[in-house]
Amino acid sequence: MRCPRCASLHDRVIETRQNPSGTTIRRRRECLSCGYRCTSYEKIEEKPLKVIKRDGRRELFDMNKLERGLQKSLEKRSISQNDIDQILNDIEDAAAVHAGNKREISSGKLGEMVLEKLYGIDPVAYVRFASVYRMFDDVKQFIAEIEKLSPAGTTGPDTQESSD
Ligand SMILES: [Zn+2]
Repeated sequence: MRCPRCASLHDRVIETRQNPSGTTIRRRRECLSCGYRCTSYEKIEEKPLKVIKRDGRRELFDMNKLERGLQKSLEKRSISQNDIDQILNDIEDAAAVHAGNKREISSGKLGEMVLEKLYGIDPVAYVRFASVYRMFDDVKQFIAEIEKLSPAGTTGPDTQESSD
């Protein structure tokens, strides 16, 4: 890889790591000329991950689209870009595992995964994401979800703080 700092083509790989679903390889590299360190990413996609939309059409899984949705939901909330990147990586991994050999996941399931993530992170973002993506069939269901988040209704599965 060409060094971003001195343009040398000589580098060595310090560390190689694969994400849990085996779709990305991350390599930590060091330039042999100037010592600059950077990270390169390789995507392994024999068959691209596809999302089955509600009308049955397939479209390519689009991380950027998902990121825009998350950013919209997290607007003015105290969540860093790092956290957003982490959420996106986790969702991509979970989606890839769920999609299996068919490499397909329904948009509903994908939305659920995002909601599950947001539920434990930021209740406001959770409700925003749910409403933007019209995850609920009707207003009653939507209100039921909001009520689940209120302090009175602490019967939800993820209401306890985890220690990590
Ligand atoms: Zn260099």
